[in-house]
Amino acid sequence: MRLETQKMNRHLSTEGIVLRKTDFNEADRIVTVLTRDHGKIDCIAKGARRIKSKFCGRLELFCHIKLTGFQGRDLVTLDEVNLITPFPQGQSLEQHRVLFTLAESTHKLIHAHQHIDGAYPLLVETLEALRETTKHDALLYAYLIRLLTLTGFLPSWNHCALCDATFHASLPIFVRLGDAHAVCGNCKTPADRLLNAGIPQWISHMQRVPMAESLKVASAEGQRNEVWNWLKEVLQNILTYPLKTEEFLVG
Ligand SMILES: [Zn+2]
Repeated sequence: MRLETQKMNRHLSTEGIVLRKTDFNEADRIVTVLTRDHGKIDCIAKGARRIKSKFCGRLELFCHIKLTGFQGRDLVTLDEVNLITPFPQGQSLEQHRVLFTLAESTHKLIHAHQHIDGAYPLLVETLEALRETTKHDALLYAYLIRLLTLTGFLPSWNHCALCDATFHASLPIFVRLGDAHAVCGNCKTPADRLLNAGIPQWISHMQRVPMAESLKVASAEGQRNEVWNWLKEVLQNILTYPLKTEEFLVG
């Protein structure tokens, strides 16, 4: 009870990225924001849909904002919002696809009020990289692999999940069906699938290095498809349903 009282009516001042927006009441808007200091929070912006609202243009998807507000029982009532970086205009269709998948997967993998160390800087770094790179799919996969690792769904891929043996580039490595675990040849079961050479090392590399480093790795289309198919399986297994953006993303 004491904690609950402390949580309520607390003044918040932080920065964040808008992941989701929903219309509420006649003129209000509810936005989900991944913040630097308080994890993922739901906020209400009163009157945000009125033409002369002070929130106008500042609560669109992927806006990087500075915000102040008051934490109520479930929602933060926004007081002031300032733009750090607006959602960039003129993005390609490919960049849009990546953005929507980033937003949906981040929203689904992080619970309300959950603060995951490193998740916010990762999203900021990824959005910045998206403006510069043409390797959109590699960026998305690197983001998902890092986020799954930070949220604890994906164990380190430099050793076997069962016997702890360190992986070497020359050893065959298997992935457990519908699972995020990699196992060695001694621990595999007949249902486990052999990964093509280079894939486990690529995944392990993406788990450890900054986004800019991940994007330096050259990859063949076949490798990227294999990683994407595996990621879709892993996400579907965790979320128990496919991402909405999935069909949209890969035709
Ligand atoms: Zn093993």
